Amino acid sequence: MAIRAETQLMSAARAPVRYMSSLSRFDKSHSVHTAANPKVDVAEDWQTKPKFAKLPPMKPTELSDQDLTRRVVAGQIKFFNIENEIEDKFRAVKIRRAAVESMTGRKNVTANLPFEHYDYNAIFGQCCENVIGHVPIPVGVAGPLLVDGQEYMVPMATTEGALIASTTRGCKALSMAGGVSTVVTRDAMSRAPVLECPNVKVSLAVQEFVKNNYSAIEARFNGTSRFARLQDVKCHMAGRNLYIRFSCATGDAMGMNMAGKATEAALAVITEAFPEVAVVALSGNVCTDKKPSAINWIEGRGKSVSVDCTIPGDIVKSVLKTTVAALCKLNQAKNLVGSAVAGSVGGFNAHASNIVTACFLATGQDPAQNVESSNCITLMEAVNDGQDLYVSVTMPCMEVGTVGGGTALAPQAAMLDLLGVRGVTPAGADQSNSAKLARIIASTVLAGELSLMSALSSGHLISSHLKLNRKK
Ligand code: ADP
Repeated sequence: MAIRAETQLMSAARAPVRYMSSLSRFDKSHSVHTAANPKVDVAEDWQTKPKFAKLPPMKPTELSDQDLTRRVVAGQIKFFNIENEIEDKFRAVKIRRAAVESMTGRKNVTANLPFEHYDYNAIFGQCCENVIGHVPIPVGVAGPLLVDGQEYMVPMATTEGALIASTTRGCKALSMAGGVSTVVTRDAMSRAPVLECPNVKVSLAVQEFVKNNYSAIEARFNGTSRFARLQDVKCHMAGRNLYIRFSCATGDAMGMNMAGKATEAALAVITEAFPEVAVVALSGNVCTDKKPSAINWIEGRGKSVSVDCTIPGDIVKSVLKTTVAALCKLNQAKNLVGSAVAGSVGGFNAHASNIVTACFLATGQDPAQNVESSNCITLMEAVNDGQDLYVSVTMPCMEVGTVGGGTALAPQAAMLDLLGVRGVTPAGADQSNSAKLARIIASTVLAGELSLMSALSSGHLISSHLKLNRKK
């Protein structure tokens, strides 16, 4: 019932937005190499197109694998549409692999790319197109890590030797010190369309309108989903271009789709009042998705998380093999001053992105969002008369979800299960699954920062990397 109600609301709210140019989701000329593309290295059977053009008409489902492959190569069956033509996704993947080998002239090139034992139904039309297999990435666990009084084994997918071993060392120090405390200070995904106004005066009028009609905009925005809840609208102008940054709660979803749909609906309120204003694009890069930007670093995007811990000096010595003073000195010289000299935006850390990316891959997050999600400032101070170490990381743009995207795929869902945060937040829970995931990842970043900084401060970095990375 609830789901139907939402669907009805969504279609009612889908008021037309006038775009400057039509936004086709897919370029119809797929960039698949075809016989018509002279740049392609042509394999032998590729050149036999005229022969296959004369094949008798048969239903694709009746053709042998070889004939299907030939027709794909000859362009008679569209490369991206094999699944629909033969209604067998696994077989379609096999045909496409053969077609790729034929089209590129690289025989057996897919032999080492696995394709069996995979649920293609789960990804078709949702997660990946033109599928030819899957790339396995080893998954290890760092931990146990004590976060807000609960122990976690944190899944990380990586091919960087020493990363998980090092992070686990950090987890040990943090857990022995009583564990990490976490806070989420903001939880809002953003989308910022770009509008073209006739001139700067109209742009200002639109900005006034947005301020004075917030409730109407909010109603249209929130009407698109049970979970999208508008929190904030901020305008930024550049000449007659106007960028309106909508920020909203998105429940347990990372929220890009949800925020996009809601923003489109809310924009209609503005374009109805200002027919002379055109929407150039639903995303005008002030959002900012998957690109470095100061706005994300300052305003936040997704979950804004801070975590900290005070580590007794004896644990710094026994587990991290360094001293409080050495760590603090290095943190200042490297993560603060060094990053300032480099002109960094959000890069005031040693390697947050290592942990973020590995956790994202293991738990079905969008790995491209590691750009902003890895924004992090690591701080270290000597406390208790210089005896102990106070350490924190603050990450304003952790973009994670526990529903939607790759989180529903069985292996990734299993890793969310390992953390106890898969899917929708259970009724009565004191924090959402998605916020909990952000807290866990930020805490793991803290462990990674501590350990790498310790290795650097004691000169152990190269020796441990060589030991764990160059065993062969
Ligand atoms: P994203 O916006 O992260 O790309 P989607 O919007 O595609 O993800 O996926 C979220 C979908 O899951 C929406 O259709 C939403 O209605 C549904 N959903 C169900 N439960 C929840 C929840 N607890 N939080 C967020 N979305 C939920």
